[in-house]
Amino acid sequence: MLALANQKGGVGKTTTAINLATALAGLGHRSLLVDLDPQGNASTGLGIDYNQRHAGSYDLITHARTLGALAAPTLVPNLSAVPADTNLAGAEIELVEMERREFRLREALHHETEGAGAYEFVLIDCPPSLGLLTLNALVAADAVLVPLQCEFFALEGVSQLVRTVDRVRRAFNGALKLEGLVLTMFDRRNNLSELVAADARSFFGDQVFETVIPRNIRISEAQSHGKPVNLYDARSSGALSYEKLAAELMARLGAGGARTASGPARA
Ligand code: ADP
Ligand code: MG
Repeated sequence: MLALANQKGGVGKTTTAINLATALAGLGHRSLLVDLDPQGNASTGLGIDYNQRHAGSYDLITHARTLGALAAPTLVPNLSAVPADTNLAGAEIELVEMERREFRLREALHHETEGAGAYEFVLIDCPPSLGLLTLNALVAADAVLVPLQCEFFALEGVSQLVRTVDRVRRAFNGALKLEGLVLTMFDRRNNLSELVAADARSFFGDQVFETVIPRNIRISEAQSHGKPVNLYDARSSGALSYEKLAAELMARLGAGGARTASGPARA
């Protein structure tokens, strides 16, 4: 179970959630995407339109419905999704009053019979904040994947995120790992991209994935058509790079036993 988190907006969380989930599904892994951002971009990007959003991750968090009842197939074989429903916008505030507010998503996903056990990968797309929704994702997940946009100030705020991950590990979820950082929107013609990449690698070492996601117009076009880039233009650099990222993730999980860890995500 992987949370895509970075409190900055526009860094590629949603794009990575959609396209990495699609690539993992394409490798034959039964996968699930949970859209935990009230903006619902992951739902839109997977072609789930508004009239299908009456039930979704809000119901999951409030325990109004089970995952079994909420997960719906997408246009990608092997990939199901729980969309962001219209109520999710209020959840950040409602959660404050709820019992075991940090564990709501974890309890829903770890439900014995109607939980995430049926999936090999669960990707959770987080909103651009470190509020209770993101906290719920971190408490539920085995690992965090942090997309970093190759732009000015990319690393700004990452230390705060890393501290949050440490705090969640101590207080709520001892198994939580920082799986890695993914460089997104890399532009070969822009020196700044190289600088940001070099900076990130010198700071985080091999926690930065070797695979770099290039800036590729096909990726954003695909999203506006409600499709993963792989279904829009399978030979684009965007589609190929997310396939590579999925392969690298699989290799990492397979290599370090400690990294793989247990956890229902890989059950
Ligand atoms: P976040 O979820 O972190 O807010 P998004 O994934 O929604 O960020 O990305 C922000 C915007 O950038 C979106 O319009 C998306 O289509 C675009 N985008 C993301 N990654 C790429 C890329 N590699 N190449 C081109 N556009 C991208
Ligand atoms: Mg997003």
